[in-house]
Amino acid sequence: MSKKFSVPRGTNDILPEDSPQWQMIELKSREILKNYNYKEIRTPIFEETELFARSMGQTSDIVQKQMLNLASQRKDENENIQLSGLSLRPENTASVVRSYVQNSMDRKESLTKLFYFGPMFRGERPQKGRLRQFHQVGVEAIGPNSASPYLDAEVISLSVEMLKSFGLNTFKLKINTLGSPEDKNAFSGMLRDKLCVHLGKLCDDCKLRFERNVFRILDCKDKECKDIVKSIDLDHSYLSKESSEYYSEVKKTLDTLGIEYEESLDLVRGLDYYTHIVFEISDSSLGSQDALGAGGRYNDLVSQLGGAEVDAVGFALGIERIILARQKVEVDKLSSLSTYVIALDYASMQKAFTMLNVIRNNCISSDMSFGVSSLKSQMRAANKAGAQFVLIFGEDEVSKNTVTIKDMREGSQRSINDDEVVQYLTGILKR
Ligand code: AMP
Repeated sequence: MSKKFSVPRGTNDILPEDSPQWQMIELKSREILKNYNYKEIRTPIFEETELFARSMGQTSDIVQKQMLNLASQRKDENENIQLSGLSLRPENTASVVRSYVQNSMDRKESLTKLFYFGPMFRGERPQKGRLRQFHQVGVEAIGPNSASPYLDAEVISLSVEMLKSFGLNTFKLKINTLGSPEDKNAFSGMLRDKLCVHLGKLCDDCKLRFERNVFRILDCKDKECKDIVKSIDLDHSYLSKESSEYYSEVKKTLDTLGIEYEESLDLVRGLDYYTHIVFEISDSSLGSQDALGAGGRYNDLVSQLGGAEVDAVGFALGIERIILARQKVEVDKLSSLSTYVIALDYASMQKAFTMLNVIRNNCISSDMSFGVSSLKSQMRAANKAGAQFVLIFGEDEVSKNTVTIKDMREGSQRSINDDEVVQYLTGILKR
């Protein structure tokens, strides 16, 4: 027997029955993003590995452990496969900034507001809510005019509004500030001072993180590390006056907008590029992988990737996690069909098929079974497809140039001339 294939571990098929949820999320997102004047950008799903290493930082977990690198077509003299220097994107901020710089977008607009949908790839150990291919919808607002606390507030409120529009209402928003790059340095100094007495008790990974990127210790999942982090007293003493004022302004604006948030002094996000505001949205119903989305400000990334000195802020939401959290919410039926055409015998097929195409050409959704089976089984198929009307063609209809139209909701049926079908359906479907 031939081998049967399955999807690779940590990836999923999005089956037709799951698609309405995905479509709803995309549709609602697009509506809201249009209101906020964000424009879509689509970048390749792979880029130079170095782009990700430079933007997220060599010491980030993603770059160290989760990059899915593409192999080269070439082998070395020992027949070992070489790396191509390209990797599947683990996130999209680096790619969007690469494109912003490459296409000199700073010269086109003083503030560029972009959004994206698409798959991301991380070589993680799969578990519920943690995949190797997952999807994000995200935004990035980049430009010389983007260093405004009102833009931070816009981006945060946009993420909250999007989640609400998907029917979610039990999520929690956490915010913090890392301050300017200088403040961030002072913050890491403070963390080292407070953690060095506990160094011996930290896990092996965190011992390395203590030297390389002390912020990562705050995200460690190890129980003992978590307890140590909880036991140290954190404060905002590392912030300069300007950074502190900026942060207060963001919070004040969120208060004015009526957005609930919790300040979380240990929220730092694991990527090098964040400065100032960072935020995370989680839903405890999701269990251990509870983050629905996250974002923050990254004022130096554009210049670090060869662009102008412009500021930026953005976020990404995980679509699979949104769908998991939505499971309690009723799934809307987005994909119902207006009509279903039935041929009762082969002689009627030609006419039925022609009608199917005439209806479609008039922008009325329609389908048929493409075979001739009993009326009962074709009616069952029409019902399953969610058809509002069924158009029946048999010997009688073909000889009289008519069609029998059945209204599936009301159960009524009538016969009309076949050249009046489109007009009849258009009138009735408009109501
Ligand atoms: P991050 O860039 O890691 O902050 O990711 C932003 C959002 O993407 C997270 O809050 C999750 O909702 C989602 N996400 C990140 N990694 C994964 C993954 N491996 N599987 C599924 N969703 C993920």
